[in-house]
Amino acid sequence: MAAPGWALAIIGKVAVENGRTVLPTLVWRRSRTKCWSTGRTTGNQSPVRVAVTAGYDPQDAKRVLLHELAHWLTPIALGGMNTDSAATQGKAHSPQFYDTVRRLYRRFRLPVRSCMTDEAQMYPTPYAHWSNRKRPRP
Ligand SMILES: [Zn+2]
Repeated sequence: MAAPGWALAIIGKVAVENGRTVLPTLVWRRSRTKCWSTGRTTGNQSPVRVAVTAGYDPQDAKRVLLHELAHWLTPIALGGMNTDSAATQGKAHSPQFYDTVRRLYRRFRLPVRSCMTDEAQMYPTPYAHWSNRKRPRP
């Protein structure tokens, strides 16, 4: 199925604002049974492939797309392996990744704190919990 216009618009904005000239290939599916969305980003070299299976909750689909785009912006040298596999989670969900995904959630107006709580529940790495703590103001 074709990706929705809002998803393509987000990819375009993320690319422009991050100096990317080659867009990832977006594969968009819709779940008939699930509320929550899932995603997967594969490939460290061009073309990167971002696959999203959107559930019923549109905000969660947006959150998952931004999570996958954060993987695109913070690649790891794993030879194109799935960035969300159990074997690579610790490297893929790095402090740099969480800084990027927080920035994208804020930029595209998602509730950062609750999104980061979801991140910490799905990917229980120390970085996810750390990045959701209140940071002191300068
Ligand atoms: Zn991930």
